[in-house]
Amino acid sequence: MASSVFHFAKERKKVYELAHNLRWSFDCPTQQFFAKLSPRVWDRSNHNPIAVLNEISEDELRSRLMNTELRAELNRLYQSQVDYLRRVRQPVGGLKHFEKHPVAYFSAEIGIHESLPIYSGGLGILSGDHTKSASDLGLNFVGVTLFYRQGYFIQRLNSDGWQLEEYLQQDHANLPVSLVVDEGGKPVKVQVQLGSSLVSVAAYKAVVGRSILYLLETNLPENEEHYRGLTSRVYGGDSTTRILQEIVLGIGGAKFLRELEYDPAVYHMNEGHSAFLTLELLHEEFLKGKNLSKAMNAVRKKCVFTTHTPVAAGHDRFTQDLINFSLSGFISSLGISLEEFMKFGRENPDDKAEHFCMTVLALKMSRAANAVSQLNGKVSREMWTGLYPGKKAEQVPIGHITNGIHSLTWQSMEARALLEKVGGPKWHDKLAKPAEWKKVIDKMSPEEVWALRYALRRRLIEFVRERMRRQQIRFGNSSDWVEKTLSADALTIGFSRRFATYKRAPLVFTDAVRASRLLGDTKRPVQIIFSGKAHPRDDAGKAFIQQVVRLSRDPRFVGHVVFLEDYDMGVARQLVAGCDVWLNNPRRPLEASGTSGEKIILNGGLNCSVMDGWWREAFNGKNGFAIGDDKDSKLPVDEQDMLDAESLYEVLEKHLVPTFYDRDASGLPSKWIKMIKESMKTIAPVYNTDRMVRDYINKYYLEK
Ligand SMILES: *Cc1c(COP(=O)(O)O)cnc(C)c1O
Repeated sequence: MASSVFHFAKERKKVYELAHNLRWSFDCPTQQFFAKLSPRVWDRSNHNPIAVLNEISEDELRSRLMNTELRAELNRLYQSQVDYLRRVRQPVGGLKHFEKHPVAYFSAEIGIHESLPIYSGGLGILSGDHTKSASDLGLNFVGVTLFYRQGYFIQRLNSDGWQLEEYLQQDHANLPVSLVVDEGGKPVKVQVQLGSSLVSVAAYKAVVGRSILYLLETNLPENEEHYRGLTSRVYGGDSTTRILQEIVLGIGGAKFLRELEYDPAVYHMNEGHSAFLTLELLHEEFLKGKNLSKAMNAVRKKCVFTTHTPVAAGHDRFTQDLINFSLSGFISSLGISLEEFMKFGRENPDDKAEHFCMTVLALKMSRAANAVSQLNGKVSREMWTGLYPGKKAEQVPIGHITNGIHSLTWQSMEARALLEKVGGPKWHDKLAKPAEWKKVIDKMSPEEVWALRYALRRRLIEFVRERMRRQQIRFGNSSDWVEKTLSADALTIGFSRRFATYKRAPLVFTDAVRASRLLGDTKRPVQIIFSGKAHPRDDAGKAFIQQVVRLSRDPRFVGHVVFLEDYDMGVARQLVAGCDVWLNNPRRPLEASGTSGEKIILNGGLNCSVMDGWWREAFNGKNGFAIGDDKDSKLPVDEQDMLDAESLYEVLEKHLVPTFYDRDASGLPSKWIKMIKESMKTIAPVYNTDRMVRDYINKYYLEK
C-alpha cells in the first residue's frame, strides 16, 4: 500500500482544496500539516496556508509528498474535510426553510483567522465565530463584509511604549480568497452612488466550511483615486469615510447578492453599520410598485437586527449635510425628499435637529431585534424607549441572545487531545452538550487537568518570550534578560482585548503598593500578560498602553508584568490557552457581552470578571471569580473605579491567589482543579456559537 508511486496532481489538488477552505482556521491538525510543509513561511506569514503554498516550489511540494507519512496525513485530513462538508449535524429544526433562500449576514468586520485581518475586535470575532457555527450546523449562510486590504493596523510600540500603527497592503494572491467572476471570467461588479460619483464595487469570495463570505472592495482602476482606498482600512478615517464605507457595505452588499441571484430569506444586520441595506431593499419594493407603507412592511419581513452598543454616543450618527452629500443620488432614486429620508434615522421624525442614526434605521426596518446579553437587552430597551411611544422600557421589542464563541477555533490542540482521549475521537461533535461535558469532565483525573494546565502555560511563556526577544532586537537592545521574564510555574493572569478606556486595563495598578506586594510575592508569584490595540485616534487608550508598558519596566513589576504587541486572533489563541485566569474589569454595563473569557474555559482557565455581559449569567459562585456586585452603579465613575479596584484586590488576595497555591499532599491545587472542572461543565456547553446560532435560527431567522 505505502508505495512511493503517487499521482502528484491528484495529491496537490487535495492540498489546495484544504488551503482554500478556511475550515482549517478551526482545525488544528490541518494547520499543523501546513506548518510542517514550511515552518519558516508558516511563522512569517502569520500562519497562512496559501502563503506557504505560494512560497514552496512544485518540486519541493512533490518531494515533500513523496513522504508516505505526510501523504497519509494529507489523505486523512482531506477525507475529514469531505466528511465535514457532507455531514448532517445534529438536526436543527427548520433548516430546510433556508435551503433555497439563505440567511444573509452583514457585518462591518468578520474575524476568521489572523492571516485574513479584516476585523478589529470583539464584533468581528463574533461574526467569524457565527459564520463558522452556521457552517457546522448546516445553515445556508452567506456573509457580507468589506475587503480591508490594510486590515485594522499592525501595532508596534516605540521604545517609550507609545503605540504606532503600521499598514501593510495585503495581496489577494496570498489569501484564501478568490475574485468573484461571471461565466465569462469577468469580475462581477455593481455600482453604488457615492456623492456625485458612481463607484464600482467588486468582491472576493472566501469559503469557511460550508459558509460563504463576500468581501466587497472599491479598489478598482475605473474608480476615482479617492474612492479606491475607501475600503482599505477597518474603521479608518473620519465620519465621511465611515458613511461611505457603510453605503458600500449595505447598499453595495445587497446589490451584489442580487447580482449573484441570491434571494435571502433573512437579512441579519450585525450592528447598525450595514443598515443602509434596508433602504436598498426598500428601493426594490418601490420598483415593484409598492407604496411606502407596503414596501416598508415587505422589507421588515426580511430583516433582523442585533445591537451591541450600550452607550448612546457609541451609535453611528450622521448629520443631514453628510447624508445629503453622500446619498442625494440614492435618495432621489427612491423618489423621496431629503427631509423624508432623514425621518428613517430619527427617533423623533419631526425633530429637525436630530442626526441620522443607523441603529434607529435598523430598528425601524427590522421585524425583530436583539441585544447580546440579558443585561445588554435591558440597557438597550431603556435606551430606545423613545422610539416606541406609549411603551414602557420592558415592552420595547428588543430581546437578547447571549454571545458565544466557536469552540474548535479557541480550544487548544492540547485540550482537544485530552478531551478526545477521555471522551472518544468524536468528542468534538458534542461540544455543545451539557450532559456530555459532565460525563467527560467527571472522568478526567486531577493529574490530567493539571498536566494540561502546565503544558499550556509553558507554551504561552515561550511564545511571549520569543515575541519579546524579537521586539528587543528591533529596539536594538540586548534580549538576554527575556529568558528571566515570567515563570512557567507562576499563576498567570491574562488581560487582553481592545484598549478602550471603559475596559480599564490599568485597574489592577490603582494601588501600586498593594499591586507590587501581590505580584512580587516570592512564595506565591503572580504574573500578568497584557495585550491589545487602541483605536488609532484614541489617545486615552494609547496612554493606558503606555502606562502598562512603563509599569512592566518598573523594578517593582519587571519580570511579572508584560505587554505583548500586536494583539490579534493568533496572539489571542495563545493567551486563552495558557493563562490560568482571564481578567475582565470593564465599567458595568459597558461590556455588552464580551467573549474572550469564554475562550479560556475550553482550555481549563478560570474567568475573573466584573458582573457584566455574559459573565453575570454564567457565574454560579463555584466556576470562577466575581468582581463587584451585580447592581447598577449610581456613583460617579471615579468612585466606582475605586470600589471595583478594592473588590479586585480582595478577590485576588483572599480567594484567587490562595486557592491557586493551596496544594494538597500530592502537590496538586485540588480546589483550583475542582473549579476548573465546574467551569468547563457549566460554561463550555452553553457559551458557544453552536448554541448561539441555534438560538438565532429558532428565535429570529425562522419567522414566527
Ligand atoms: C475574542 C477577541 C476579542 C473580544 O474580546 P472581549 O474581551 O470580548 O472584548 C477581541 N479581539 C480578539 C483578537 C479576540 O480574539
